[in-house]
Amino acid sequence: MTPKLALIVSFVAGAGVVATLQPDESLPQPALVTPGLPPTGAVTPAPSDAIVLFDGTSMSHWLTADGKAAAPWTPEGKVGGFMQCVPGSGQITSKEHFADAQIHVEFATPEKVAGDGQGRGNSGVFLQGRYEIQVLDSYNNKTYANGQCASVYGQHAPLVNVSRKPGEWQTFDIIYRAAKFDAAGALTAKPRVTVLHNGVLVQDNVEIQGSTSHVAKGPIDKGDGPISLQDHGNTVRYRNIWVRKL
Ligand code: MG
Repeated sequence: MTPKLALIVSFVAGAGVVATLQPDESLPQPALVTPGLPPTGAVTPAPSDAIVLFDGTSMSHWLTADGKAAAPWTPEGKVGGFMQCVPGSGQITSKEHFADAQIHVEFATPEKVAGDGQGRGNSGVFLQGRYEIQVLDSYNNKTYANGQCASVYGQHAPLVNVSRKPGEWQTFDIIYRAAKFDAAGALTAKPRVTVLHNGVLVQDNVEIQGSTSHVAKGPIDKGDGPISLQDHGNTVRYRNIWVRKL
């Protein structure tokens, strides 16, 4: 168990648990590692059985959070190889929903550095629309370890910090196993996730304790969900997003 990790678990009716895990300033900072892959142009092409959610040319697979409109993350009204968070527009979600999946995402935090801590290059990849793999500019930017880039936000710090410089393209390769429930709907296994950041293992089959919000953690719900990308007020860019259902 992680030291000083505040964990309150209470059972609620039906499926799942409510867990509270705190951002923890007392955790040690992960060691710095320089990724071996070249910093730019390292697009990992989608394999033949992948669902390509974003190829740099179209936002057709993405909707606003309420699912009622096209996702507005198109700088100057056009998609030129990447999409970019429009601060204040809200998170966007994929039309397709998933449970178990292999997910590839490429992102870049803003080249022009502004803000610090959680206010610098913050976004996030939400698995099933619920569990955040943090996107943050963690290059020379200290914050609590379980809130830095490639953390399972507020729950699991990355094993090492493989962050590239602001403005450089980075990769997440995520293997996600959804929660399991018995026939009566009771939770039998929490979600688990493995994450490679710029090709380096940073989350090793960790157990997700609850859905992500700022501090308190929500329940673990049944049902497939989308990939969601967070609007945290910073102009983070994304390209080359694909998913393989497992
Ligand atoms: Mg975030």
